[in-house]
Amino acid sequence: MKISKFVVNPFGENTYILWNGEGSEAAIVDPGMMHEEERTAVDDFVSKNKLSVKMVLLTHVHCDHAASARYLADKYGVKVYAGEADRPLGQALPVQAQMFGIDVKIMPLDIDMTVSGNDVLTLNGEEIKVLATPGHTPGGVSFYLPDSGVVLVGDTLFYQSIGRTDLPGGDYRAIADSIKNELYTLPGDTVVLTGHGSSTTVDDEKSFNPYVR
Ligand SMILES: [Zn+2]
Repeated sequence: MKISKFVVNPFGENTYILWNGEGSEAAIVDPGMMHEEERTAVDDFVSKNKLSVKMVLLTHVHCDHAASARYLADKYGVKVYAGEADRPLGQALPVQAQMFGIDVKIMPLDIDMTVSGNDVLTLNGEEIKVLATPGHTPGGVSFYLPDSGVVLVGDTLFYQSIGRTDLPGGDYRAIADSIKNELYTLPGDTVVLTGHGSSTTVDDEKSFNPYVR
């Protein structure tokens, strides 16, 4: 799978497009675009490459990851996938936006399709395995593409850091367990695509992450 990254919104969130060349199927992961020009950049990429968008995937339902989920789902006639336990966060998106001082109006978000650990989605004939990685949020998930050797972890694991657990529904023990049991057990050379900042690998975090080893 090809993976393209767009850094968007005041939080520098990483929005990813999974695709496989011109005319292929595509999934858009964590579309946090908050401004018109950010949405246009993603739409232009989709139309330029003649992609057929099949799904909008959310690692978790925070406003900086989900602000344009409904926009894209409506535009391309697809569903928004996320963990069931993040449903209340979707309803609270406007409150989250307020809490973080975002001056853009964000509507509540209904999750269309819930995903849980061990679910398997398919895109361009390739498996996307859902890993349950709660802790940053209660319904947090990661998307693992074994054939491509990548995992999209949202705000669970960062380059030499981990996600916050002080926001509503956060749980330090849960995030530590998620990282140890679901992410550190993946092949060491798996590329970890994070929700903010640069990517890393499973082996590098197992060796150097100061929070969870
Ligand atoms: Zn988050």
